[in-house]
Amino acid sequence: MAGKDIGQRGSATGRKGFDYLIVGAGFAGSVLAERLANELDKRVLIVDKRPHIGGNAYDRYDDHGVLIHPYGPHIFHTNAADIRDYLSRFTEWRPYEHHVLASVDGQLVPLPINLDTVNRLYGMTLTSFEMTSWLDSVAEKKTEINNSEDVIVNKVGRELYNKFFRGYTRKQWGLDPSELDASVTARVPTRTNRDARYFNDSFQAMPLHGYTRMFEKMLAHPNIKVMLNTDYREIAGLLPWDHMVYTGPIDAFFDFEFGRLPYRSLRFEHRNLPTAQFQSVGTVNYPNDCAYTRISEFKHITGQQHPTTSVVYEYPTADGDPYYPVPRPENAALYKRYEEAAERCTDVTFVGRLATYKYYNMDQVVGQALTAFKRLRARHGAVEAGSGATDG
Ligand code: FAD
Ligand code: UDP
Repeated sequence: MAGKDIGQRGSATGRKGFDYLIVGAGFAGSVLAERLANELDKRVLIVDKRPHIGGNAYDRYDDHGVLIHPYGPHIFHTNAADIRDYLSRFTEWRPYEHHVLASVDGQLVPLPINLDTVNRLYGMTLTSFEMTSWLDSVAEKKTEINNSEDVIVNKVGRELYNKFFRGYTRKQWGLDPSELDASVTARVPTRTNRDARYFNDSFQAMPLHGYTRMFEKMLAHPNIKVMLNTDYREIAGLLPWDHMVYTGPIDAFFDFEFGRLPYRSLRFEHRNLPTAQFQSVGTVNYPNDCAYTRISEFKHITGQQHPTTSVVYEYPTADGDPYYPVPRPENAALYKRYEEAAERCTDVTFVGRLATYKYYNMDQVVGQALTAFKRLRARHGAVEAGSGATDG
């Protein structure tokens, strides 16, 4: 039964049943559930096929008592004060600036590429000013930036591109950087100073008691019912609801009608080690050797003190849970067909990284969900104004 054909819309009159069926309890679904319940007093059923809330940002204590991110390291960062303020209603924060080292030429050097990276790799003592001229001398200047290779060679030249980006990207995506949109590698800045933080954003912090606790607070409203271990297709036809918010993969919703949208997956290998610290920073990237792309150690990220430590290795795979949309022109064209079909489903709102096929960070998904809420609120306002006019 196609996702688009099921359900009992329009039957939730007289406040029986649910006003909203929300599919997915990650950031997209949870923000909308919270807003609809708290601000509009809507009755919401939020379902997730996984056994927990939080989507990919879910965290939990492992068997050794270390707080881990089962779906890979999640570091919160944003430039948007309104998004920070919104989430601050549900959590306090622990300031945290993520640092990454890359294993290149037998050394662990800072990533993003900065002054120290270049000086250490090449045994130089450049100043910031000199590094700017040095980069100019090695960069392959492009008149047009068309893909993820162009972005990097244009800034740092082919040699650094080969050392840091080519192998990692081929491993991570199963594609050459030249086959991916420029936006993918453009996520990683280049610096001529000694700033070794992975992100540039003005606000960089972790939820003080973890993501799951934050999600619990978002969903703690008497109008919100949470149903886990449930694919929405199992229940959408059984319960009355007026409007659906869908945050799963958009091609699955339409039964892959136009073909499969590629989503990149990962296999996470979690390990606990009988030592207080495994590596000196939160994440070490392995662009050229090893089948995994990176190893992250959670205690750096969460600030937890514990006699043992837990780490995760990320092995990219083609099959498995969908984690990353794959930004490249042919996929954008296929997504557009699904997007047009989605626009015709007026009783379903598509939000989130999988449902809108956007390589979004957590803060961007929160922003997208808050915008979607404003549209829904305006619609309710219009309906109420309309019914008021009829009644009057
Ligand atoms: P999701 O979290 O994927 O939630 C969608 C939910 O829908 C899932 O729980 C799924 O089970 C459920 N679902 C799907 N289909 C169905 C169905 N048929 N029935 C019921 N439920 C269904 N962002 C950052 O800002 N910083 C980071 O450091 C960061 N690190 C990341 C590391 C990794 C390895 C990955 C994969 C992502 C990372 N992200 C990071 C991105 C972040 O995970 C996403 O932006 C965010 O979690 C997306 O939220 P969402 O609600 O759109 O999707
Ligand atoms: N990247 C790379 N080498 C690195 C780190 C990143 O080539 O050491 C490229 C790669 O294509 C990656 C992209 O930059 O997918 C974005 O990196 P980011 O760390 O933002 O990826 P995410 O945390 O979303 O997996």
